[in-house]
Amino acid sequence: MGGPASALAPTVVMKFGGTSVADADRIRSAARRIVAAKEEGKRVVAVLSARGQTTDELISMAYEVTPRPHPREMDMLLSTGERISCALASMVINDLGHEAVSLTGSQAGIVTDTTHTKARIIDVRTDRIESLLAEGRIVLVAGFQGTSASIRGEGGEYEIHGNVTTLGRGGSDTTAVAIAAALGADVCEIYTDVAGVYSADPHIVPNARKLAAVSFEEMLEMSASGARVLQLRSVEYARNHGVRLHCRSSFDDGPGTFVLGEDETMERPLITAITHSTGDARVTLTQLPDRPGVAGRVLTALADANVNVDMIIQNEPESEGHSADMSFTVPREDLDSAREALEPLIPELGMGGIATDVNMGKVSLVGAGMRTHPGVAAKTFTVLGDAGVNIEMISTSPIKISCVVREDDVETAVRELHRAFELGEDAVRREDPRGDHRPVVS
Ligand code: ADP
Ligand code: ASP
Ligand code: MG
Repeated sequence: MGGPASALAPTVVMKFGGTSVADADRIRSAARRIVAAKEEGKRVVAVLSARGQTTDELISMAYEVTPRPHPREMDMLLSTGERISCALASMVINDLGHEAVSLTGSQAGIVTDTTHTKARIIDVRTDRIESLLAEGRIVLVAGFQGTSASIRGEGGEYEIHGNVTTLGRGGSDTTAVAIAAALGADVCEIYTDVAGVYSADPHIVPNARKLAAVSFEEMLEMSASGARVLQLRSVEYARNHGVRLHCRSSFDDGPGTFVLGEDETMERPLITAITHSTGDARVTLTQLPDRPGVAGRVLTALADANVNVDMIIQNEPESEGHSADMSFTVPREDLDSAREALEPLIPELGMGGIATDVNMGKVSLVGAGMRTHPGVAAKTFTVLGDAGVNIEMISTSPIKISCVVREDDVETAVRELHRAFELGEDAVRREDPRGDHRPVVS
């Protein structure tokens, strides 16, 4: 059944997340959706995540045997989760009368740099996928992984090393987008356990509203500030390569959320979403010397250790020549690496010391309309103050305000801001031309 697909047939990349392949029934249901797309005449590549909590379990297994898992071996271990999903789904699809072939990231031509556990895709060699599609097969690709290569020279040439790499948590989204870009797919569909991108995490705010469309600019800020529904790199990749992204439910057929270019989105609501993250840590460097180059030295040490630094705040010294403090946040799992990278700087720079705070989180408001409306920050801080939430750090971009708060306060902060800015399903709203029902502030 199926037969060779014409090269002119539309191409779809369908990515199924962990919950969507968590048990045998869900694998069967994902397989049926994949087959349905093929029977509509499409060329289908499906990217699968590891089942349920598999990746967390594999990480725990590593820490059961060693406090410091070797990054290369960690990737060897973690990559197995998505391979299991693909092999199982392929078996079901074959039973449904279609020919499916499962591929590891390496077999699918995903080439990455050598940064184990956080690798970046540098190329996608599609020959094998293309020839399987031309034979009429459904191709299943294990998400979240690739094969390592080192980049040589300015021209982007690289030399394959062939070690298994993984792309960071949530990385199957990026696998799907990168394959969609390389194949010139018509759409990259991200199937997940919620019906699309919402005005806040629907698991925290039950009346959060599904957005029919969101701009790349807003989605980048949302993903960067914790809306894990789309991994940040997948959104960057989609924007840079013009991939049409559709985030939707794996449990029902309705439309989800399209991520569109700025010129395609018609409205500029004041606030589009409240996002949050937990599991952050704050690092404070005390008594930094007041001289040029110090901040550069600190951030270079962190970058060399592959620590992603989020919010950075530095106090001006009281008077010239005096020392200043610098605070920044990092993902909690990077705290040990951050400390290790910074400790040698205590004597080198002559700074006071390193203080850390492990139970931090962040709440953010994202909205392209914020740019032209003053008063959002004032309202945000007042709402949080009235809710008894202490703001520990603040940062802003033209379309985002982020506040670092205690982790225990994050859920209250999200709910209160969502309510105060009337983002809920039940809020008074004006119809908007996309059929999206965001409140519009004019
Ligand atoms: P998958 O396993 O399918 O990749 P993830 O757990 O990575 O799924 O992402 C989906 C989850 O993202 C949802 O279950 C939801 O709890 C969370 N989430 C956070 N913020 C948002 C948001 N603004 N809209 C939708 N989902 C969100
Ligand atoms: N399985 C990986 C994770 O849990 C990748 C993904 O699901 O996208 O992070
Ligand atoms: Mg995910």
